[in-house]
Amino acid sequence: MKTISTDRIVIIGAGLGALYAALKLAPRPVVMISPETLGEGASSAWAQGGVAAAMDASDSPDNHARDTVNAGAGTVDPAVADLVTREARDYILDLTTLGTPFDRTKDGGYVLSREAAHSFARVVRVKGDQAGAEIMAALIDQVRKTPSIQVLEGTMAVELETTDDRVTGVAIQDASDARSAPVMLRGSAVLLAGGGSGGLYALTTNPPRIRGQVIGMAARAGALIADAEFVQFHPTAMDVGEDPAPLATEALRGEGAVLINKDGERFMQALHPDAELAPRDVVARGIFAQSQMGNRPMLDTREVLGEAIKEQFPAVAEACARNGIDPAIEPIPVAAAAHYHMGGIATDMQGRATLEGLWVCGEASSTGLHGANRLASNGLLEALVYARICAEGIAQTVPTGKAAPINIRFEGGGTPPAETAVTDLRTTMTSLVGVVRNAPGLREALRRIAALETAHGDSPSFLNMCATATLIAAGALSRKESRGAHERSDFPDALDGPGQRSQVYLPQALALRAQVCKDMT
Ligand SMILES: Cc1cc2nc3c(=O)[nH]c(=O)nc-3n(C[C@H](O)[C@H](O)[C@H](O)COP(=O)(O)OP(=O)(O)OC[C@H]3O[C@@H](n4cnc5c(N)ncnc54)[C@H](O)[C@@H]3O)c2cc1C
Repeated sequence: MKTISTDRIVIIGAGLGALYAALKLAPRPVVMISPETLGEGASSAWAQGGVAAAMDASDSPDNHARDTVNAGAGTVDPAVADLVTREARDYILDLTTLGTPFDRTKDGGYVLSREAAHSFARVVRVKGDQAGAEIMAALIDQVRKTPSIQVLEGTMAVELETTDDRVTGVAIQDASDARSAPVMLRGSAVLLAGGGSGGLYALTTNPPRIRGQVIGMAARAGALIADAEFVQFHPTAMDVGEDPAPLATEALRGEGAVLINKDGERFMQALHPDAELAPRDVVARGIFAQSQMGNRPMLDTREVLGEAIKEQFPAVAEACARNGIDPAIEPIPVAAAAHYHMGGIATDMQGRATLEGLWVCGEASSTGLHGANRLASNGLLEALVYARICAEGIAQTVPTGKAAPINIRFEGGGTPPAETAVTDLRTTMTSLVGVVRNAPGLREALRRIAALETAHGDSPSFLNMCATATLIAAGALSRKESRGAHERSDFPDALDGPGQRSQVYLPQALALRAQVCKDMT
């Protein structure tokens, strides 16, 4: 394989975590591996709700930490919740300085939305539902103006190179559909900020590139993975036949929108005292049950917002218009869709993975903040906090200095994943590793993933997806309880005592998969 050595820090991904880390590393030279043009392909740009931060004088980081711990169903690391929530306000101020036009009150304060399981209105927002797009636009503008940051658009990572459990390089290739032969890039440190894995599911709110590839890549290189089975399903993805499914932000329910079924019944009141504002996992299961019964769940914004939805929630209104729905006069059909991966590459409080020389931030990581169920709008906050922590950690090991720009000419053919195989994998995940799981379904999922991997293992991207899918399904099979977003119909209760986070290396998950396959033959 062709090798390029550089004094630049290699950042994999170009979402919020990657951009913020690159800015915090300046003037240290960085190269960012971005599959798409900056701003495209990242979940960050699609975030609608905003960033959670205790900005109100009557609120406090302690309240925010407590809500985070409560939402996580017994598996949040309280020290991490404390760390992240304590600093939240500073990040909002920093994003403001960097140019984010947060919605402001007449007296100059921040407009705060209320979201499920938050005890206060504490989600800062931009132009209603434009938080992700606007924050990303502000940071991209800064990144483009920062000479120490080189962005390689149209490139993606496929493999980590390790020597004695130390990461020494990253194999990258042309990210176009044709791919290219990989090139080994050896930099001064590696930061993974490649996002989560929602797109491994057929029904998802995540952009198409977000398919667990970076988590799988790290697992294949030997990194420890934590909480893989904890996948959050968003209750109100629009059920309009689009892939990915557009999101009807939770802030709509915060405004008072209600969930009804085809008979006009509000079904959440019978399931939780907070009804539509119950924790996300509870609402997702309520919606899923209605879908399974053929009751066509819908989000009704008519009474509470009427025509105002078009101005206050432009992204939702646009998705409705695209699909011939007028939310001012008709309810929006919804379904529970894979949205956020609480699990990922296990990191310590310095953002370090178990492999030397490897840092991770954002949704690819599992820091212990989210437990079994992420509190809404803590995702962007975690990406910001750990991007800064990783940048500081890397800065301690990498001297300042200049580095020449990297020039890569990709050549030859690579092996892109077969579309049919990806479709089969995603359908398997939604139907067998989805909102409600059980042992026979999870075993069948592992069998199918193994068969797909055997048939299509010549594509490294697909191997990375299969690794993450295996980790999720094996983790779900091993966790014989229901906890947070992980619901087992054959183990409906949580185990007694404090919840346990899960930790696994890929070979252990593969051994379980092999055993399942053997038992099924
Ligand atoms: C529709 C939607 C709405 C959301 N709303 C909110 C919200 O309101 N508040 C909140 O806190 N959170 C929200 N989230 C979650 C939040 O957006 C994410 O958790 C967060 O943006 C993750 O940031 P990130 O930088 O880790 O990953 P991302 O922003 O997903 O970026 C990942 C980057 O990695 C790149 N990448 C992927 N694979 C590779 C590869 N193999 N090689 C190189 N690069 C790769 C991608 O192209 C992308 O650039 C939402 C998510 C979605 C999908």
